Amino acid sequence: MMSPPNILLIEDDCEMRRWLRVILEAEGYRLLFAETGEQGVIEAAARRPELILLDLGLPDLDGVDVIHRVRGWSATPIVVISARGQEKYKVEALDAGADDYVSKPFGVGELLARLRVALRHAATVRTGTEATRFKAGGLEVDLAARWVRVDGQDVHLTPIEYKLLTTLARHPGRMLTHRQLLKEVWGPNFVEHNNYLRVHMSQLRRKIEEQPARPRYILTEPGVGYRLAEDP
Ligand code: CA
Repeated sequence: MMSPPNILLIEDDCEMRRWLRVILEAEGYRLLFAETGEQGVIEAAARRPELILLDLGLPDLDGVDVIHRVRGWSATPIVVISARGQEKYKVEALDAGADDYVSKPFGVGELLARLRVALRHAATVRTGTEATRFKAGGLEVDLAARWVRVDGQDVHLTPIEYKLLTTLARHPGRMLTHRQLLKEVWGPNFVEHNNYLRVHMSQLRRKIEEQPARPRYILTEPGVGYRLAEDP
């Protein structure tokens, strides 16, 4: 029997800590706590949790600084809790290396789904067992054989569209920012070229989505990025 994953919760709001403790312990996670950013970084180093759940609004450090500091030595998945109106910080947090985020107020189901995705992703990276096949509904991508099918039909993509889709497919369920996608698909000199992403994303959607204006597979988070839907 594997020991339950430890989650380090870095959060200054004591109501929130209490609520999350009840929810997460009921799911079998073990909770560690830090109330400030400094304490969070120290706890992360000392206790080596399997995941860090990080509030962005902390009394001492900015949550984004906590991410930079932890990422200096650790690939532990970080899921951010952000308050309304922190869009800009959400993007900064993801670009700094956070794996995902939930926005306050969030539902329990959403939080648990985000945590599962982040833990699973970390486990596949650690064990080198990243899937070469991706499937969600009628969309199938084979990264090894290099084909894409929708409802069993081959879809012909340009190299850019293929790279865009496979970048998302390597991180199913995870939010990738515009910057991350631009860097991955076009290269580090293109991270500001949001228009490239917009144009090619819309072409890609026309090829794989039944209703490109109401996408089922590639979901948009306005102002943040894109997420590939997971198989329900
Ligand atoms: Ca706070």
